[in-house]
Amino acid sequence: MKFLTDPTLGKLAKWLRILGYDTAYYRGNIDRNFLKKAEKEGRIVLTRKRDMENRSFSGQMVIIQDDRVQDQMRDVIRKLSLTPDPDRTFTICLRCNEALKRISRDEIGEIVPGYVLRNHKDFKICPRCKGIFWPGTHRDNMLGELNEMLR
Ligand SMILES: [Zn+2]
Repeated sequence: MKFLTDPTLGKLAKWLRILGYDTAYYRGNIDRNFLKKAEKEGRIVLTRKRDMENRSFSGQMVIIQDDRVQDQMRDVIRKLSLTPDPDRTFTICLRCNEALKRISRDEIGEIVPGYVLRNHKDFKICPRCKGIFWPGTHRDNMLGELNEMLR
């Protein structure tokens, strides 16, 4: 399942990426190209604009009504009967929406501080922004928040 969110749903897009869903975040004005992109790429549209329902669109769409991202997530999960796969969490770059690739400690070299290299072995890299990611406190905090959300 792939998604396209409108420009007001950046946080929701981030959380869907954390769960491992390919989620494009639309930056431009919400015009015909917004729905065209979703149709072309087979993405489910997530939008706060209620009048979108009246436009001609062959794909699937969820109108988001909640303001808090926690409620938005619950709503999307319920309406689309999503069953997030725990193995897919943190497999996508939160910034670029690119699938992360495994990278060995040797390949990382000096990009990452020494103490991190010594204490972790599971590293991933984003092919686009070249960001390096590893399981850490930040990730544990996000998982905690996520569990709250999904409860
Ligand atoms: Zn990236």
